[in-house]
Amino acid sequence: MRTQPTCTKCHERSSVYHRTYSGERLCPTCFKVSLKERVQGAINRFDMLDHWSRVAIGVSGGKDSLTLLHILKGIEEGTHGSELIAVTVDEGIKGYRDEASGIVERSCREMGVEWVSVNFTDLFGYTMDEIAASERTLGACSFCGVLRRRALNEAAKSVDADRLATGHTLDDMAQSALLNLLRGDVGKMTSLDPGGYTSPGFVRRIKPLCEVPERETTLYAYLQGFELQSTTCPYAGEAMRGDTRAFLNDMEARRPGTLFTTYNTALKLIPEAKKADAMKTCKTCGEPSVGDTCRVCQLLENRRR
Ligand SMILES: [Zn+2]
Ligand SMILES: [Zn+2]
Repeated sequence: MRTQPTCTKCHERSSVYHRTYSGERLCPTCFKVSLKERVQGAINRFDMLDHWSRVAIGVSGGKDSLTLLHILKGIEEGTHGSELIAVTVDEGIKGYRDEASGIVERSCREMGVEWVSVNFTDLFGYTMDEIAASERTLGACSFCGVLRRRALNEAAKSVDADRLATGHTLDDMAQSALLNLLRGDVGKMTSLDPGGYTSPGFVRRIKPLCEVPERETTLYAYLQGFELQSTTCPYAGEAMRGDTRAFLNDMEARRPGTLFTTYNTALKLIPEAKKADAMKTCKTCGEPSVGDTCRVCQLLENRRR
């Protein structure tokens, strides 16, 4: 019988994971410690938290956001001492969101974290199911993405948070960076800043998992025994992101480290993109906006026509 190589960190236990981009082989204990250190490192380097931060954590119920919640809880109990509140956006997707909300509620109760949920109907007047039934131009996922971002900001404001932490992984960061390049949208690189930035009307967004590959949130969730969702969202994902994800995964498999390189390139472009980025105020709703009317109001207005 073939035995697993020994962990390259503790030299005691058997490894369960081969980290191809670094060459490490890790046992479950050392793997979890290393992930926590990686997140702590990103929090420090990008100055994400203050000792007195009140952090809203966007928790969808997927493995990334549950991993984020669990790791932040561990870190905050140790050193920072920030307050954590989990916030969930209920888009109104029958059979899908209901299951996820149940998982989030139980997970928060187990971890002892306060939980708040906001929904699309209260904020925008429609459920995502209603929007998807008639949405033909933009596609349900893009539409949903715009509304979700606004909803998370509203949720964070409603609990007086000064930070909004989201579960974006290294994979998400690299995909978005490449998508911005493919679409010629360098200005959008600003939203990839892991430490976020302060802007009137916006709760500062931070991405503590920015240097954690999705493969590793999957393993963390498995090792922790998180309850995970069995259904996937019924609406087809954004096609171009799907292609970008497939391309990057293929490149990462052949050339380990590709995701990190793409992410690091984006970090170098952010300062330039920031210079060109000027925010206005939406003339309809008063929220921060790139143009005279924000994306949310544009989308909802188009629906009413
Ligand atoms: Zn070990
Ligand atoms: Zn608006």
